[in-house]
Amino acid sequence: MPSAPDQDGSWLLVRARVVTPEGVLSPGWIRVTGNRIDAIGPGLPPPGQDPGLDVVDLPGQWLLPGFVDVHVHGGGGASFTEGTSDDARNAAEFHRRHGSTTLLASLVTAPLAELEARAALLAGLADEGVIAGLHLEGPFLSPARRGAQDPRHMLAPDLAAFERLHAAARGHLRVLTLAPELPGAIRMVRAAARAGVTVAIGHTDATAEVTAAAIDAGATHATHLFNGMRPPHHREPGAVGALLDRDEVSCEVIADGVHLHDMTIRLAARAAGPGRLVLITDATAAAGLPDGSYRLGSMQVNVAGGVARLAGQPGPPGVTAQPGDAGQAGPIAGSTATMASVVRHARAAGLPVTEVAAAASTTPARVLGIGDRTGALRPGLTADLVVCDDDFRLRAVMRRGRWLTEPRGPSAFSPAGAPNR
Ligand SMILES: [Zn+2]
Repeated sequence: MPSAPDQDGSWLLVRARVVTPEGVLSPGWIRVTGNRIDAIGPGLPPPGQDPGLDVVDLPGQWLLPGFVDVHVHGGGGASFTEGTSDDARNAAEFHRRHGSTTLLASLVTAPLAELEARAALLAGLADEGVIAGLHLEGPFLSPARRGAQDPRHMLAPDLAAFERLHAAARGHLRVLTLAPELPGAIRMVRAAARAGVTVAIGHTDATAEVTAAAIDAGATHATHLFNGMRPPHHREPGAVGALLDRDEVSCEVIADGVHLHDMTIRLAARAAGPGRLVLITDATAAAGLPDGSYRLGSMQVNVAGGVARLAGQPGPPGVTAQPGDAGQAGPIAGSTATMASVVRHARAAGLPVTEVAAAASTTPARVLGIGDRTGALRPGLTADLVVCDDDFRLRAVMRRGRWLTEPRGPSAFSPAGAPNR
C-alpha cells in the first residue's frame, strides 16, 4: 500500500474509467513504472503483477491524461509577465496542482526590452523543465482588437524585433501570436514558421482573405478563437471563419463559461472536429484568488464574481474605444480559470469526454511537438495524468510518475493509501 501520495514508485491504478485515445475503458487499469505508463488494459489487471506495485483503487473515477495548457499568464497570485523567477515558478506550480502537467508561459504586449528580459528569465525555467516553453501573445497585435493588452507597446511586425525575442528565448519560443493584417506580418509568419515557432493568429481585425493568406504562409494555430477577433459575418467570415475552415489550424477556446457561450463552444468543437480543438485557461495571476484588483502586464484588472475585467482607463489618443470599454465594466481580461475548471465546464457544455481529453491534452501536446512524450494515456508515454471524480472535480494529479498534493477537497487517498470513497 502506498504510504504517501507523493512517493516515487510503481503504481497500479485500478477500477477507474480510463480515457485513452481509442475510447474509455470502464473499468480499466494503468500500470506506472518510474516516470512512464508501461501498461494499460480493460477490466481488472491480469494476475501475477509485481507485488512491489502500490495499488490505488479508483472505483468509477475518471483517469485523464495530464492537461497541457498552451496559453496561460499566471495563477495563484503569481505571474509569468512580471516578478521574479520564483514567482513564475509558483505560477507554474499552482497550475500543475490544478492538473496542467505541461504548460507554456504566455507573455503579453510590453516594451520590447522588457519582453526580451522576461523571455530570458523564462528560458531558464524551460531549461529546468518547469515550463515547456514560451508563448508570445504580442507585441505584433492589432490595437483594434487589443482586448486587455496595452496598445501603447504594440508594434508592426519587425523581423529584427522577432529575432531579438527569439534569441532571448534560446530555443524555447514555441508559439507567437500575431495579427496578420499588420504590415510585414506575412513575412514574419514565414520567418517564425521557418524558425520552428508555431504561428498563431490572434488579437486581429483581419478579414477571412487576409487570415487565409497567413495560413498559406505557415500559420497553424488560433489564439482564443472568437475572443480578440472581428465577429464572423455570413459574407465576411473573418479570422474565425478562415481559421475554422482550414484543417491544419488548431483552435484555442477559453471554455470557462465567461468568454464564450456554451453553444459557441459546441459549434467550435463541431466545426473544428476531433484533433483541432485546444482548451486553454488564458489565466492570469488572479486564478485561484478571491475577487480583487490584480495586474496583467502593465494593465490593471478587477475581478468580480470570478470574472476579470480591465479596470477603466482612458485609451491613448488615436485609439478608438471598443464596444464593452465604456462604463465601469471593461473588456474581459484573461480568466481566473484552471485547466481542471475548463475541462469540467467543457463536459458540462456537452462535449464528449474523449473529445475533452483530446482538446485538453492530446492536441495541445501535438501543437507543442511533444505528442510522442505526453498528452495521452498510452503505454510508453510519460506518466502525466489526473484523477477526477464522477462529476469531473479534480481529485489528484500525477506528473512524471509522482503524485502531487491535491489542490483541494478530500484526497483520493486515505492516510493508509486506500481510496476514501
Ligand atoms: Zn492571453
